[in-house]
Amino acid sequence: MSKVLIIGAGGVGGVVTHKCAQHPEVFSEICLASRNEDKCKAIAAQLDRPIQTAQVDADSVEALVALIESFKPDVLIHVALPYQDLTIMEACLKTGVPYLDTANYEHPDEAKFEYKEQWAFHDRYAEAGNMATLGCGFDPGMTNIYCAYAQKNLFDEIHRIDILDANGGDHGYPFATNFNPEINIREITANGRYWEKGEWKETAPLAEKRKFDFDGIGEKDIYLLYHEELESLSQNIKGLERIRFWMTFSEKYITHLKVLENVGMTRIEPIKVGDCEIAPLQFLKAVLPDPASLGPRTKGKTNIGIIADGIKDGKRRKVYIYNICDHEACYREVQSQAISYTTGVPAVTGAMLMLEGIWKGAGVFNVEQLDPDPFMARIGDMGLPWQMVELDPDHDPLA
Ligand code: NDP
Repeated sequence: MSKVLIIGAGGVGGVVTHKCAQHPEVFSEICLASRNEDKCKAIAAQLDRPIQTAQVDADSVEALVALIESFKPDVLIHVALPYQDLTIMEACLKTGVPYLDTANYEHPDEAKFEYKEQWAFHDRYAEAGNMATLGCGFDPGMTNIYCAYAQKNLFDEIHRIDILDANGGDHGYPFATNFNPEINIREITANGRYWEKGEWKETAPLAEKRKFDFDGIGEKDIYLLYHEELESLSQNIKGLERIRFWMTFSEKYITHLKVLENVGMTRIEPIKVGDCEIAPLQFLKAVLPDPASLGPRTKGKTNIGIIADGIKDGKRRKVYIYNICDHEACYREVQSQAISYTTGVPAVTGAMLMLEGIWKGAGVFNVEQLDPDPFMARIGDMGLPWQMVELDPDHDPLA
């Protein structure tokens, strides 16, 4: 019987709240807080049990501490924006509340994301005997846990990992992003980057393209991107020689994006329009469909997983571990599409394991540093069943 405080009432916050509400045996009291309390109330109205809601500015440590002290949660799930990671971690440290998030800290005006500032909390969390779990969404999150599971149970050494993220969903709009457009657009207009033999290698944005046949979706174009889990996995998987991340984008999506970029709409530096200062990307976010509104319109499936290639008992081995998730089934269950669903469900599962003392530790941990087995045993029942396929080690499906 525990109290959970959820910060952020967007697409992912909605899923997290629904999923916590489905498990009263663990989350006996729920408080959903966000910048705009009306959004929390709208989510609360979808549930069949009462929860508390609150207004909070998560950029303010003081405001967060006041909310935490009044609600007294046993765990905090942060699903607001990556800009708030440091303030929320600081507030959890001050109040002794375990912390969990799904995205690493992003500098609001530098288009840069990394774990450095969050890892810097490690010693203070360790001294306080408190725990912070970082990156417990799908990617990062589930993908890291697939890698940890493969490392623990399937290989003696993993040499190569490719993370494959496919969204075969169609929302019927000519252009919309599936999660926060600002974060999404900044992610894919950046240079591609992967890790090989101890070094980071850069590619021009979306320059590396392959085709891959996804179970449940079919053949799709995939593009090499830098994604935040590469930073921690390259350190935490032993014997690793290369790790890359691939994501599907349709031709239509890339064409829209190129036009927006060419006309300057993806820029983050504010410009003056009349008497008003505005960052073009923030303006674009305001005119694009709200990702939370895509749920009822989206049909099709996602397929996200990892291919790990390494050695077991002296022999080469290659395995593919993945989840397929259906947008319409997610909407029927929690009134949200699969992108938010696949992020929110691992976050709730991780918070459960922390509350039950199954995931424990003093300090700051990326999810692959925690035991993958209890997570993998539970995540199917929570809504994200996984499959594993043995691949021919001599065939490269990404050649
Ligand atoms: P949304 O933009 O839909 O929701 C973010 C929510 O946070 C909104 O309710 C927003 O309020 C609120 N918020 C923003 N700033 C503040 C603030 N200063 N104080 C309080 N609340 C604030 O994003 P998503 O739900 O799509 O994503 C949530 C998180 O999940 C993000 O960090 C994202 O990067 C991460 N994510 C992780 C994935 C993974 O697989 N690991 C995949 C997808 C997302 P308002 O409504 O007023 O704007």
